[in-house]
Amino acid sequence: MMSNALKFYIDGAWVEPAPGATRLPVIDPSTEEAYAEIAIGTGADVDRAVAAARRAFETYSQTSREERLAILRRVLAVYDRRAREMGAAISREMGAPLPFAISNQAGSGRAHLAKMIETLENFRFEELRGTTLIAREPIGVVGMITPWNWPMNQIACKVGPALAAGCTMVLKPSEIAPMSGLLFAEIMDEAGVPKGVFNLVNGDGPNVGEAMSAHPGIDMMSFTGSTRAGILIAKAAADTIKRVHQELGGKSANILLPDVDLEKAVSEGVAECFGNSGQSCNAPTRMFVPIDRHEEAAAIAARAAATFKVGPADAEGTKLGPVVSQIQYDKIQRLIETGIEEGARLAAGGLGRPDGMNRGYFVKPTVFADVTPEMTIAREEIFGPVLSILSYRDEDEAVALANDTVYGLASYIQSADLRHARRLAARMRSGNVYINNPAWDTGAPFGGYKQSGNGREYADFGLHEFLEIKGIVGYG
Ligand code: NAD
Repeated sequence: MMSNALKFYIDGAWVEPAPGATRLPVIDPSTEEAYAEIAIGTGADVDRAVAAARRAFETYSQTSREERLAILRRVLAVYDRRAREMGAAISREMGAPLPFAISNQAGSGRAHLAKMIETLENFRFEELRGTTLIAREPIGVVGMITPWNWPMNQIACKVGPALAAGCTMVLKPSEIAPMSGLLFAEIMDEAGVPKGVFNLVNGDGPNVGEAMSAHPGIDMMSFTGSTRAGILIAKAAADTIKRVHQELGGKSANILLPDVDLEKAVSEGVAECFGNSGQSCNAPTRMFVPIDRHEEAAAIAARAAATFKVGPADAEGTKLGPVVSQIQYDKIQRLIETGIEEGARLAAGGLGRPDGMNRGYFVKPTVFADVTPEMTIAREEIFGPVLSILSYRDEDEAVALANDTVYGLASYIQSADLRHARRLAARMRSGNVYINNPAWDTGAPFGGYKQSGNGREYADFGLHEFLEIKGIVGYG
């Protein structure tokens, strides 16, 4: 893989970047050492990739369901063969503990590809309503920009449906964690995806991301990342009226109703929040507990946090790897400091690295109690292993506080009474509600209300995003 790290995958071949490209080291967050370099492209590389994708669209958009299924099945077969390699690449580039990176990170990519095959087998591209034919056609060339926190999850839930829809694409993975994207391009190549259908250009937001967003040859942008970058992408895309699909940040609430087993609900809430070192867009970072149970909840959370063994991604027994970068580490430290200054009480963790760890972007598993709704740590996305515990007096207040955020990606409800939880779910202003921490479902639509984005990913919901709808009136 390393041999291709300084190249881009365009028109079915590994190519040198156009003149003007620069280089960026890839840092292992467990050691802070650079272990590879990638090329940072320019608009010229984007032009070349878009031209290839446009040419390929002419033929690929006309392929049959069976042809696309055959391609997706080959991609999945190669992906499966290289799954461990993929897990190792992700673990090293973004710091997830190796077993987790293999099973959950690389595994999520597999799950999306498999789900897309099942979805495409049954999808209705056409339907007749009276004498009108409703035809769903591929939207065209898609520009995809993905983040570093769940790199293959994001890549697979864009590339899978785009392939199924008949679209061609240009992918720009995160420059912070680019190795999994490069490996994925090798998988696409090995699987014999027709040339020009899938193209990869590495780069950062200002050099490559904005050139893609503004490009007249790109019909749609599919973006996952921060709300900040999402705004810039939407602005750059505005002049060409392209579709902009966005999965952005979150500040998800976890409401623990009075009837729960507190020990279980709080421990699970801590685990959900700290998973992937707190670097999940839908992490339940605001835990709402009944006011008279606050002390008890804080004590349980502190005990649970202490079980999160912090360590390098490749060390045996690591439960919490480092966060991804110096920038993220500094940002998290700043927010912990702000939490202390604004009067929240540290129940576990706090500033600095865990004892004895001097290198690597390791953050102490941190729990704040006595958090109030106006505090910065209750409002801003922290993107680290930091949990805030807040109180509520009654259910109406819990709902109002949970919804009092610019974000709307996910909400969590814990209750022994499923019917009650269902009623509460209807009141949450978020694209996802998780009742009693269920297993992950690739069939559930995923996406946000409010500033958490627009559009939905996963299964047929994801596939619809990559389709135009044509009404042919007088058809039959
Ligand atoms: P980021 O927005 O900084 O970067 C994401 C991607 O956008 C990268 O590939 C980056 O190069 C690119 N980018 C940055 N500026 C750009 C610009 N001006 N134009 C075009 N592209 C640009 O986010 P990140 O730090 O990589 O990821 C963390 C964020 O992603 C968090 O806010 C998290 O909540 C969000 N996220 C959301 C979801 C979701 O599905 N809702 C999933 C994962 C992550």
